[in-house]
Amino acid sequence: ATPMSIMTATGRGAQAGVLIKNAEALEQFEKVDTLIVDKTGTLTEGKPTLVAVLPEAAHGEAEVLRLAASLERGSEHPLAEAIVRGAEERGADMVTATDFEAITGKGVKGVVDGKQVALGNRALITDMGLEGGDLIEKANLHRDEGETVMFVVLDGKIAGLVSVADPVKETTPAALKALHELGFRIIMATGDNERTAKAIGARLGIDEIRADVLPEDKARIVRELQEAGAKVAMAGDGVNDAPALAQADVGIAMGTGADVAIESAGITLLKGNLDGIVRARRLASATMRNIR
Ligand code: ADP
Ligand code: MG
Repeated sequence: ATPMSIMTATGRGAQAGVLIKNAEALEQFEKVDTLIVDKTGTLTEGKPTLVAVLPEAAHGEAEVLRLAASLERGSEHPLAEAIVRGAEERGADMVTATDFEAITGKGVKGVVDGKQVALGNRALITDMGLEGGDLIEKANLHRDEGETVMFVVLDGKIAGLVSVADPVKETTPAALKALHELGFRIIMATGDNERTAKAIGARLGIDEIRADVLPEDKARIVRELQEAGAKVAMAGDGVNDAPALAQADVGIAMGTGADVAIESAGITLLKGNLDGIVRARRLASATMRNIR
């Protein structure tokens, strides 16, 4: 066989949209045994759509959606875009919220029509001293479908739920199967709810799930696995993935993701598809076999 140099490997990678930053990334990647993957935007499209609005008895669907969407106009989170787009499609008359505040990894708060409104996950309502009540069961039904459910809080009481779905990328199932065959242990790390994460993880045959992870926790998860002796690659697309990408032995960024994620990574998948990881591993193995 013809020898494959590092330059040949990086050149072949580039042709396939897999950008390998340097020789070190290639060398390290050959040794990786554990792959941590972010969920939203990495396993999934990262373009969620609104699928359900479930009001509490005292409220109407349109009212709950209007409150949620008015608040989310102030946010750039993909979940916010899904809710605003869904509200537009349903003809909601949104207003502009004041005193807007984003709570990282949890949700958003503000004032709509003079009323205090909050929207976010279980951690957010727990921080407000609230419990999900009867809506928890409905929330769980949607989570078991892999949807992300958010609570809408109006003047200190839960007014309803909104649920969004973010489809798994078409290329993800086959890529994960190939990565398993190459011997990787695959772990999902996500800020999303455990039930949602498990539903998606089970469908994809993911080995382990770390859910309800706050942004600062992803880098800690990488470090703990390294301390336990694992060689870790981390794949992610978001600003909140950047510290974990930098901490990993090899960071893998989606070319479709945030610039800071790309800057922190040793490998960038231009198309944002995980089959690029399979290719990177084959190139790494072929190169290192030659060098030894
Ligand atoms: P991920 O790791 O999936 O990208 P984030 O850390 O951005 O997640 O958010 C974690 C969770 O916090 C979301 O699943 C959602 O429940 C809640 N959340 C974050 N931002 C918002 C927002 N703008 N509106 C509603 N909920 C939000
Ligand atoms: Mg993401």
